Amino acid sequence: MTRHIPCPDAARHNAIPFLHGAETAAISQALLAGQYGHGELTEEFERRLAAFLGVADVVAVASGTAALHIALLTAGVGPGDEVIVPSQTYCATIHAIVACGAHPRFIDIKPDTLCIDAATVLAALTPHTRAVLPVLYGGRAIDLTGIQDRLATRGITVVEDAAHAFGSHTRTTLVGASSRALTCFSFGPIKNLTCGQGGAIVPRSPEQAHTARSLRALGITQSQQQRAQSTTYTVERVGLRATMSALNASIGLVQLERFPLVAAKRQVLWRAYAAALAELDDVVLVDVDVEHTVPFNCVVRLKGRERVFHLLRDRGIGVGVHYPPNHLQPAFHRWHRHLPATEETGTQIMSLPFHPAMTDDDINFTVSALQHAVITERSCAS
Ligand SMILES: *Cc1c(COP(=O)(O)O)cnc(C)c1O
Repeated sequence: MTRHIPCPDAARHNAIPFLHGAETAAISQALLAGQYGHGELTEEFERRLAAFLGVADVVAVASGTAALHIALLTAGVGPGDEVIVPSQTYCATIHAIVACGAHPRFIDIKPDTLCIDAATVLAALTPHTRAVLPVLYGGRAIDLTGIQDRLATRGITVVEDAAHAFGSHTRTTLVGASSRALTCFSFGPIKNLTCGQGGAIVPRSPEQAHTARSLRALGITQSQQQRAQSTTYTVERVGLRATMSALNASIGLVQLERFPLVAAKRQVLWRAYAAALAELDDVVLVDVDVEHTVPFNCVVRLKGRERVFHLLRDRGIGVGVHYPPNHLQPAFHRWHRHLPATEETGTQIMSLPFHPAMTDDDINFTVSALQHAVITERSCAS
C-alpha cells in the first residue's frame, strides 16, 4: 500500500523554482559588476523577451503585481472606475486594481477551467467599466478578440493577468504576442520562468511603453546615464518604485534561453498526471488545454477537499489551494457579489505538487496517495 512508502522529496513541494545551474554564474557576475538597479542587463532581458514573443517592446518591472498595477494605470484606470475581474485568482490581481483607486467587479468562472469567458464579461459591463482583467488560470490562454472591438468602442482596455501563462498559446499565437491587451507576466519564484522576483508588461504602442517606463521609475524621465550628466532631473508624473534589478534580469536571461526545455517538461508532467488521474473516480482534473498551454499547475476538484488535503499534508505531500476566492476575503468585502461557481469550486480545488524537477514516479506516488486519501475520506464521510 502506498501509505508505507515515504513521500519522495520532489512531491513534498507544491512548486519550487527550476534552475539550470548557469543562473548561479550569471548572478555572481551581475553582483560583481556592481549595478544593482535597472541596468543594461534589464534592458537586454527586455529585448530578449520582446524577441521571444515577437513583439516590438516589453517593459520589465519588479514583480507581477507591479506589472498589473502599472498596466492598469497606463490604461488610465483610476478612482471610481470599475475593473471586471474573476474572484478566482491570486489576491495580488485584486490589490493591483484597488491600488489604482478602482473597484473590482467580480465575475464568475467556468468550473471545468476556472477561467472566465467573453459572455460573462459582456454581462458584467456597466457605464463605469474601464478595464477587463482576465486571469489566464493554470496557463490557459483566454481569447477575448471576439469582443475586443465592442470593448474598445466603450473605451475599455483589456489588461491580462498572464502570471501563469508565460509560453502558452491561444489557438493561433503566443500569449502576449498579438492581442491588443496589455499582457502582464510574473517572474516570481515558482512561475514558468523565474527571475527570483520580477514581472513584465507588453505595451501595444510607443506611448504606452513610455508611460509604463515612466511609472515604474518614480516618473523620472531621464535615464541613469542622462542623470549622471546633469545637475537635475524631471519627475513628469507620480510613479512607483518598480524597476527590475539587473540581478533579477541576469537570472531571467538564463531562464529564457533554456525555456523550451522547461515548457516541454511541464507539458509532459501535466499529461502524465492527466493519464494517472483518469483512473480515479470522484476526482476531476481542471483542464488547461495542454496542447496550447505551458501548464503552471495541476489542479483537481473533489468533494471532501478539506479532509483529503489534510490526509495528504500529513503524509508530507505538497498539496495546496490556488486560490481561496477573493470576493469572500475581508479586505474585498465591499465588492462582494454572489458567484455560485467560484464559491462551489473554491471548496473543491486542490493543487497537486507540480514543478519540472518531478519524475513519473513522483506523479504516480502522488496520484496513488490521492486515491488512498479519497477512499479514506469517503469511508469516514459515509
Ligand atoms: C504570481 C501571481 C501574481 C503576482 O505576481 P508577483 O510576481 O508575485 O507579484 C498575480 N497574479 C497571479 C495569478 C499570480 O499567480
